[in-house]
Amino acid sequence: MNTFLSPNQEALQQQYGTFANEVVAPIAADLASHKTCLREFLQSLGQKGYMGISVPREYGGQGQSFLASVLFVEAIGEHEAGLGLTLASHQAVIEVLKKFGTDTQKSRYLPLLARGEVLGTLAFTEEQAGTDVFAVRTEAKATGDSFELDGQKVYVVNGEMAGLHLVLAKAESGLGLFLVDTGENGSVKAGLNRSRMGLKSARANDVKYNAVKVSCEAQLGQGKNAETITSFANDVAKVVISAAAIGLLRSCLKLSVEHARKREQFGTNIGQFQGIQWKLADMLTESVGAELQVHRAAWALEEETEKFATYAAMSKLLASKVAKVQTGEAIQVLGAAGLSEDLPLERFYRDAKAMEICLGTSEAQKIQLVTELRI
Ligand SMILES: Cc1cc2nc3c(=O)[nH]c(=O)nc-3n(C[C@H](O)[C@H](O)[C@H](O)COP(=O)(O)OP(=O)(O)OC[C@H]3O[C@@H](n4cnc5c(N)ncnc54)[C@H](O)[C@@H]3O)c2cc1C
Repeated sequence: MNTFLSPNQEALQQQYGTFANEVVAPIAADLASHKTCLREFLQSLGQKGYMGISVPREYGGQGQSFLASVLFVEAIGEHEAGLGLTLASHQAVIEVLKKFGTDTQKSRYLPLLARGEVLGTLAFTEEQAGTDVFAVRTEAKATGDSFELDGQKVYVVNGEMAGLHLVLAKAESGLGLFLVDTGENGSVKAGLNRSRMGLKSARANDVKYNAVKVSCEAQLGQGKNAETITSFANDVAKVVISAAAIGLLRSCLKLSVEHARKREQFGTNIGQFQGIQWKLADMLTESVGAELQVHRAAWALEEETEKFATYAAMSKLLASKVAKVQTGEAIQVLGAAGLSEDLPLERFYRDAKAMEICLGTSEAQKIQLVTELRI
């Protein structure tokens, strides 16, 4: 039994698992190699309600907890972890709107996000502002009753598809966080998907904002408040990508155990060798430990808000580290077969490395945790 899951959430977990096995597993490799259209796949998720699991029913969502949406990402992450990155940005925009949005912003955007008709994205990072994210140079010039945004962001996940960007910029009065509706602004231009290792189904684009007009009502936060909301959005995204790591770990364990049972060497199956058994025991223990940490963080978003940021940092740090180590161990258990491109392990290995960097590096999580220890 998982301490943080209610019977309803356990039932959802089963439902999501069945969906992921039937629908995602057959196309996972094609999504990663872009042979299957990501946009169409996301639209189909939206039609089934899976893009708005934690959106309240009054806004057209499923009215489930954030933890339920994390369970969904775990299920699909068992097959293609890059989908977890795609959903991390989308989910972060949803949770930001739920917590900090005005009634008008909620009723305008939450139904569209829930149906997957609009995809959300976080546009924080710039070439010179990575870990030091508040060093952004994108300018927000006040022009009477609106702002004009100018600048360039990098690694904007969903940048080429998203209709709603959460953009961090610098105004005269300090930092500002803006909701940019690309439907209203022709001057948001997404560049090509950046070539990179891992989490390949997700698109991460450079995005240019040229004289993009946003009304003052589209400003979500200013100064310290903009920092708080940006950090909250990142924390949500961290938990979601950690959930994808948990999914990937489940697949690693399953494939490793199956192989250990059937592969014979020296007249017996390799699962009889203590060297292999110990790997599997570590894989199980560390995966379940990371899973509990991720569930704890997801639960904290609604139930223990003051600790959410801390648990989000811990879950990202732990889940990505366990994923990196244990994807390597799974490949080791399978030997040469583990390196084969016919199996997903070599893809998972690349995904796990990218997880230690995207949406905040492992070092950045440690910096945050140490700050909270107030040494
Ligand atoms: C696949 C992917 C998806 C992404 N998605 C998004 C997105 O949707 N939206 C968005 O805004 N950004 C996104 N990013 C950007 C991501 O958040 C940044 O890449 C990340 O925060 C690190 O920044 P950087 O790459 O510039 O590394 P840098 O900040 O240059 O860091 C380089 C190295 O120095 C270390 N370092 C930096 N500062 C310190 C310090 N004070 N102490 C110790 N070590 C330090 C880092 O940990 C790292 O090891 C994405 C990145 C990737 C790869």
